[in-house]
Amino acid sequence: ATPTALMVGIGRAGQLGIVIKGPDALEASGAVDVVVLDKTGTVTSGAMSVDRVAAWGISEPELLQLAAAVEAHSEHPIAAAVVAAHTGDLPPAADHRALPGMGAAATVDGTEVLIGNAVLMESAQVRLDAVACEFGEAAEESGSTCVFVARAGELVGAIAVSDQVADSAAEAVAQLKALGLRTVLLTGDRPRPAERVGAELGVDEVISGVLPTEKVAAIAALQAEGHRVAMVGDGINDAAALASADLGLAVLHGTDLALKSADMILVRRHLSVIADAIGLARASLRTIR
Ligand code: ADP
Ligand code: MG
Repeated sequence: ATPTALMVGIGRAGQLGIVIKGPDALEASGAVDVVVLDKTGTVTSGAMSVDRVAAWGISEPELLQLAAAVEAHSEHPIAAAVVAAHTGDLPPAADHRALPGMGAAATVDGTEVLIGNAVLMESAQVRLDAVACEFGEAAEESGSTCVFVARAGELVGAIAVSDQVADSAAEAVAQLKALGLRTVLLTGDRPRPAERVGAELGVDEVISGVLPTEKVAAIAALQAEGHRVAMVGDGINDAAALASADLGLAVLHGTDLALKSADMILVRRHLSVIADAIGLARASLRTIR
């Protein structure tokens, strides 16, 4: 590889809004044939909003305060939506824990409170009754994501949230396909909301309901089939996947962890920057060879 061609590539990347961490990244991206996209915070705008709330045994404002107290320290888009939706003062909370790919927990007013998906509730042995299941199904039918809230092991409510596909995302997927790349949406969200977003984007494949560790396995499976995989994520629950891909692309609003595990950082918010990055890498490689 001639250093000059790589230097030109890296300089051009800067103009496009791409930060490349080393010449290796540029070389790796030229050979990529599959692009795996994280859903929440990557192809969706990152801002989620609360659509509907159900409270059982407590008032709706109390439920949202309880949930917001737990989510106050979480950086997940669901947490931001819950925190934005509550009114009044937050009860005192301590011992905040993130449960990657499942939810969050904290001690609120001396009591353990959990917020998260059905998998989390099952693992904590919180029973979802018929009313809760109906709320969850109705939420998913309309394309929302449902999270449940449990206090001291008892279900006290459910919150439906939804995210919007980023304006630039469908166009970005079309550009990737035009480059001959296979596109995969990879998400910890449930099948229905994941399929809704996948259809809006026009991706080739949707893989849903995966835990952060399973995201790494999904990438390894593609690599085992002989594919060179680029992973685009925001670093929330997908830092390990970014690191294990042949090329890790972090969108700018990602965390420090994402920046460390990524090979390229996409500074420009328009997702067409993904196709630019791969196109640029291919062009640089042609110059080199
Ligand atoms: P994605 O792969 O789309 O980025 P995540 O792996 O971050 O999704 O999350 C998967 C699922 O775990 C979410 O759809 C939600 O049900 C649950 N979850 C994760 N973090 C939180 C949180 N802080 N609060 C509530 N639910 C959460
Ligand atoms: Mg994410």
